[in-house]
Amino acid sequence: MTALRPEVAESQQDDGLSVDQQGAGLVQLHESIATLLASRGQWRQAYQHLRSALDLVYADQDEQPHVPEQLRREVDRLRREHAEAREQSLRDSLTDSYNRRYLDQRLVDMLTEHGSSRHGLAIALLDLDWFKQVNDTYGHLLGDRVLQRVVELLQQDLPEGSFCARYGGEEFVLVLPRVDAETAVDVAEAARERVERHPWSTIASGLRVTVSIGLAYEPPAEEAPSRPAVGAEQQLLRADSLLYTAKQSGRNAVAYREDGRVRLAGAAAGRRAITETRVLGYY
Ligand code: GH3
Ligand code: MG
Ligand code: MG
Repeated sequence: MTALRPEVAESQQDDGLSVDQQGAGLVQLHESIATLLASRGQWRQAYQHLRSALDLVYADQDEQPHVPEQLRREVDRLRREHAEAREQSLRDSLTDSYNRRYLDQRLVDMLTEHGSSRHGLAIALLDLDWFKQVNDTYGHLLGDRVLQRVVELLQQDLPEGSFCARYGGEEFVLVLPRVDAETAVDVAEAARERVERHPWSTIASGLRVTVSIGLAYEPPAEEAPSRPAVGAEQQLLRADSLLYTAKQSGRNAVAYREDGRVRLAGAAAGRRAITETRVLGYY
């Protein structure tokens, strides 16, 4: 990185700020750069900027320099790179969906500070059916393409504020904040149907892909005031239990709870043999 020692201004500043304000702005810029550099592990450069900031604080007030354009541009560039790097660290490299880290962070935020479960929160845990067979039959590379396409399909038509994250392997999570129970079932069932109906044979002859979904819904606090608030982990466990039910019931289905009973959405609703094992903490 080039040296960014400020030049001393010889005349009155041209942007209407007092000399003191100019100096304070420059100190802040150096501090911002130092923070951004430190976040990237560039400790030596960060230290140099902190030194520059300190020098300015102790410098003769009459000689406060003008904030050089070069310094402003440097801050903008670093901020942009920092935001991009942060966004990348929250994405899954294969499918470009959000990753587990993002999911964990968002769920904690939603269920604590912002209290999203108080406004209703649905978590749909989704697993590709017989995906090992897809890999075995068509190869791992085609399996990767299937995962990418599934994510594209899952991300279509999600309600505002919702997102898709890769939970791991061939499992994904749809997080649907502030939806009601009926909408959550409709969204999950529509996603399942989109995957089922996709023309997979255009990718490989005879290819079929379906998903099973477990949908755990937490109602808004005013709808169920006596219901204890659940944490993200517990809600995910409930979704996992329902996913297991969907699998046991024949796959390619959405399992959810209504009035305490496990149900299957859409066309699968007529199926029998819904197992209720591994259901945790329900009443
Ligand atoms: P089920 O319907 O019970 O879920 O059966 P399944 O075959 O989908 O389940 P299983 O857990 O036996 O296999 C999951 C497979 O997903 C095995 C693993 O190789 C594959 N898989 C996980 N991550 C990836 C990936 O990133 N790319 C590819 N191509 N395959 C993956
Ligand atoms: Mg799996
Ligand atoms: Mg699977």
